[in-house]
Amino acid sequence: MKTIPFIDLKAQYQAIKDPIQQRIQTVLEHGQFIMGPEVEELEQKLNAFTGTKHCLAVASGTDAAVVAMMAMGIGPGDEVICPAFSFIATAETVVLVGATPVYVDIDPCTFNLDVRQLEKALSEKTKAIQPVSLYGQPAEMDEINAFAKKHELRVIEDAAQSFGATYKGKRSCNLSEVGVTSFFPAKPLGGYGDGGAIFTNDDGLAEAMREVRVHGQKSRYYHTRIGVNARLDTLQCAILIPKLERFSWELEQRDRVAARYNKEFKELEAKGVLLPLLAPNRTSAWAQYTLQMAKREEFQKFMQTNGVPTAVHYPRTMPDQPAYTELGRTMNIEVSRKMAETVVSLPLYPDMTDDQQDYVIEQTIKFFHKS
Ligand SMILES: *Cc1c(COP(=O)(O)O)cnc(C)c1O
Repeated sequence: MKTIPFIDLKAQYQAIKDPIQQRIQTVLEHGQFIMGPEVEELEQKLNAFTGTKHCLAVASGTDAAVVAMMAMGIGPGDEVICPAFSFIATAETVVLVGATPVYVDIDPCTFNLDVRQLEKALSEKTKAIQPVSLYGQPAEMDEINAFAKKHELRVIEDAAQSFGATYKGKRSCNLSEVGVTSFFPAKPLGGYGDGGAIFTNDDGLAEAMREVRVHGQKSRYYHTRIGVNARLDTLQCAILIPKLERFSWELEQRDRVAARYNKEFKELEAKGVLLPLLAPNRTSAWAQYTLQMAKREEFQKFMQTNGVPTAVHYPRTMPDQPAYTELGRTMNIEVSRKMAETVVSLPLYPDMTDDQQDYVIEQTIKFFHKS
């Protein structure tokens, strides 16, 4: 029996050990641990990568969305529409700024916000939409932006899982008024700790967000807004710079692994397994490779016994979480609830070898042939 990691960050570290250690060393020697030169260097490189005008490195993906919404003035009395099926931070950030989440269903093919549900969710109080580009695939951003424009809503793309993905040739994070992402270690572009970034092409909003990021400070000890402390450490920025240099190669590898899974699992469709689908005109960052199946629990046990970890993203919708049941407004979310019972993700990482993947494929197919 083999043992496969769910993701392998050690192989990645071995490949870029020298530049990472040099970068860390440089920071230790110059000693500017907060807002040191690596922060701006990373922000510029991230702008070049996404094609955006402004980037702000922040302490987490959660902070990224909070800072964006605070700078936009979203707060008590406002409603923010989001998909019911996502990591909890999508709803949590709305609640943290004092606004009310309004949950709409997802499209069963892409796992992303079903734009046909937007109209029904609209109210006098609707202020913004926070679509999620789940599992790495960008949401229907053109349709969402058009709807937002018509109803004068703000749009925050939660691109925590889709950094590096493209939509009609443009990068995720550069698909709406503002895009937010996460550098949590397991995300497509991960640091060695928490981190995140905000992207926009709007000069005024960028300035407001820069102030919010540092206690609402316009100039030293002069506070024109209520802010937070959401800066990203210089050390994390220094680590992310060499990681970003390898990132395009990693995206290709993620694509390679996902394409191979899709090819080899085609035969499982006859057994009722649904494979992840990409909508036209987009690429995925493949944060997760996620199947849908009825016998999930049995499958997970079988895989675990055979050395293959699997994971469920996510076992409950956000409005069905205990702390959220009394908050917000929930539309019909039957697809989301079904997904919560059927989705299961397999190991996928850029440094996955053919041998490792062969083993995951072999075990997966074995389960469906024996049952
Ligand atoms: C990870 C994640 C976040 C939050 O990012 P953190 O860096 O962990 O704060 C937000 N939204 C989604 C969809 C995520 O997957």
